[in-house]
Formats: sequence, structure tokens, C-alpha cells
Amino acid sequence: MTVKGIAGILLIFCVSGWVSGIKSPEKTLEYCSIFRQIQIDIRDCVITPDSAKIAFQAVMHNFRSVYNRDSCQAIDSSYFVFPVQYYSPRESIGGRGKGYRPNGFDLFDMNVKGSHPAHDIFVRDRNQDNLDDRTWQPIDVLAFTPGIVVATENSWKYDSDLRGGNWIWIYDPCLDMLFFYAHNNLVIVQPGQWVKAGDKIAEMGRSGFNAFKKRSPTHLHLMTLKLNEDASPEPYDTYDWMLNSRIKE
Ligand SMILES: [Zn+2]
Repeated sequence: MTVKGIAGILLIFCVSGWVSGIKSPEKTLEYCSIFRQIQIDIRDCVITPDSAKIAFQAVMHNFRSVYNRDSCQAIDSSYFVFPVQYYSPRESIGGRGKGYRPNGFDLFDMNVKGSHPAHDIFVRDRNQDNLDDRTWQPIDVLAFTPGIVVATENSWKYDSDLRGGNWIWIYDPCLDMLFFYAHNNLVIVQPGQWVKAGDKIAEMGRSGFNAFKKRSPTHLHLMTLKLNEDASPEPYDTYDWMLNSRIKE
């Protein structure tokens, strides 16, 4: 990365950190790179599930410590913004919420399959060109809640066998939850950045081994994990929050 690039990121930290309650932008950046490496190591099966869990818990304790929770706003339905612009929850959430299947989920073990602790949000894109069939425009993915962008992937290629494609992890320190936005065409946020609910974070796409296949309609995969006391992650069903979330005009 160039000096200019680093300066730009630090500027984002300074501005967004001050607004958001992030106490240490430098440490946040360090924790972001550790978080990303854990995800990559899990994906590549170069870390055992037990070691991955310990590393994950440590870094999430650190993320908790860099945020001043006095800055948290009240959590009611106005806290949440529906994460796909110009779509309503009822028309777009897969299976009216029945796509959420948390049983057997293990973030740390790539060999455990079958669960889907997430909601898929579908759009009108019959010709699968990543553009809305009504407007011929890209479809914006919005932050569902405020939080720190902790990791991103933006280099997925159509011949890759990696799942998830171009993804974003966001940690909301007020809810103490992680949000994973997958299958994006274009990720436009940076690790360490603070986002508000409703901020554009990506353009929807079909990236990911399964999402790219013809049989898969274009969608956003949004997984939510609640951290318990020891910072281990549990799937959380956000269907009701989505139904009652604000719609960004
Ligand atoms: Zn999904």
C-alpha cells in the first residue's frame, strides 16, 4: 500500500473514530488484520478448530476494548436499516425467514456443513448481470447496523472455488454482534472504518463458488453472530429486526 493510501485510511480512522467512539484507531487496524488472518486460516484449514476459537475469542475481546460503549445509541427498530436498498423485507427475504438454519453451525470448522445461520435476500436479476432488472443499476448493499468494518475480501475471481466470494465482516460493539455480508460484486469499505446503519458498503453480486452458479438467484447472504460472555459466536436470527427495520429511500 502507498503512503498516500495509509494516510487515507488513517484519516478515515481519525474522522470516523472520533464520531463513533473507537478509542484506538491504530489498535483497531491491528485487530482487523488478526481477525482476517483467522478467517483465512480457517478457510485454508491451516489452523485447528480449537486454536481458531481461542484466537477468535482473544481478538473479539480486543475489539470490545477499543470501543467506548457510552457512545451507543438506543436500540429500537430505528436502529436497523434494511440492508438491500429499494427492496422491502417481505418481498426479498428468502423463504419468509425460513432460510435460517442454525443447527450444527461451527465458524471454526470448515468440514461441518449443512447449516445456514443466515438470511438470503433476493433481488430482481433474471439475466444475472448484477443489475436490478427494473433500473439497470447496481443494487446497493447497506450496513444493517452501525459498526466497525473488521475484514473484507475483494479479490474473488469467477473461477475460484472459494465460497462467500467478496465478503465483509462488521462488528457492532453495541449489540456485541458480528455481521457477515457475502456474495458482493464490489466491496467499497475498508477494514477499520466505522459505518453507520444505512451506509453503502457494497454492490450486490454473485461472487462465491455456489452463488456464481446459474441455479443460484442473485442475493445477499447476511449471517449474524452474537458473542456470548467468553466471546464465542452463536448464530442469531435477525428476521424480526429486518421486518421492522427502516427502509432507506
Ligand atoms: Zn446464504
